[in-house]
Amino acid sequence: MINQAATAFEALVARRGGDLLLLVDGSLRIVRAGLEAAELAERSADALTGMSLIAAFGSAPLDAIARQAAAAGEVVVGEADLGHLGERSFMVDAVPLPGGGLVLSLHDITALRRMERVRRDFVANIGHELRTPLTSIKLLAETLLSGAVDDAETTRDFATQIEREADHLAQLVDELFDLSTIESGQSRLEIESLDPEEVVAACVERIGPVAERREVAVRRAPPPAEQARALADPARLGQALINLAHNAVKYSHPGGEVRIGWAVAGSSVRFTVADDGIGVPVSHQQRIFERFYKVDRSRVRDRDTEQLGGSAGLGLAIVRHIAEAHGGAVGLMSEEGVGSTFWIEVPVARSA
Ligand code: ADP
Repeated sequence: MINQAATAFEALVARRGGDLLLLVDGSLRIVRAGLEAAELAERSADALTGMSLIAAFGSAPLDAIARQAAAAGEVVVGEADLGHLGERSFMVDAVPLPGGGLVLSLHDITALRRMERVRRDFVANIGHELRTPLTSIKLLAETLLSGAVDDAETTRDFATQIEREADHLAQLVDELFDLSTIESGQSRLEIESLDPEEVVAACVERIGPVAERREVAVRRAPPPAEQARALADPARLGQALINLAHNAVKYSHPGGEVRIGWAVAGSSVRFTVADDGIGVPVSHQQRIFERFYKVDRSRVRDRDTEQLGGSAGLGLAIVRHIAEAHGGAVGLMSEEGVGSTFWIEVPVARSA
């Protein structure tokens, strides 16, 4: 029976993908370390045998949990960050054995903790984005109510500002809904075979009035010699391109030019939106498609953000999710002060 139990323990210790296991004696020296526990300590299982727990893992919380269980003679459960720079989180069960010593079972909760962090950041970001326009609306309304404004022109100006802030709020809410439906995969894509020229033409037409107000020219890039069709949901692809076009106009200088075009890239159709605007510093290019990520807001003059709606840092996150929902990708090439080319790829359907 004892032998069978030892064999069972060995089988558990040698397996991958389960909890990490360690057997320690009464003075917390390692008797037997599982394969993955040894990997976590960056040593071989043999090298770990005889080492103290604290020397092997360098984790005071892990040592404290084990010590407490050994002293009390009962199960102790706790949490410890382990591994190189403590980048992995574990739920630790320390179970005392009748003959002395302990079995330590380590359950990896790194992914759970990361998700909790993402959720916390998300809520904090939304709170921040909602608060800014709400504060303005409240201040403007308070000033109007106090009776301090007595001429019609200023009153109208205040009301216009309130309306604009309310529009920002509405846009933010729309973007959040878009992002969550696309992210959750709830909205099914209605894939059709599309003529890329028509997709580009529709985008140029839609962005026209906005660009005009900003004194930016929008043109179609010359079509490639190759014939191809794109396999995409027209509404979603259109939304992604208009987001890119909006940004291109927003971050252009007056008198600038935005070019929208397409090309075949391997098994994809790549739509491009190019501008000769302010560009994206290299240090920001990696993270620019993350939700709520913004490059320094002071780069855009207030007049522009007023005309073009708020800047919540959600536009590019929506573009990325749309691309990924199609099995495609997004990217950019940009040089600060020279301009940017953003692209989105969706699958190609070569015409006969
Ligand atoms: P936002 O609502 O802030 O425009 P986005 O997700 O659309 O959010 O863009 C994220 C950031 O990327 C922006 O804050 C801006 O700094 C930068 N960016 C996006 N497009 C361009 C562009 N065409 N040229 C320069 N910077 C851009």
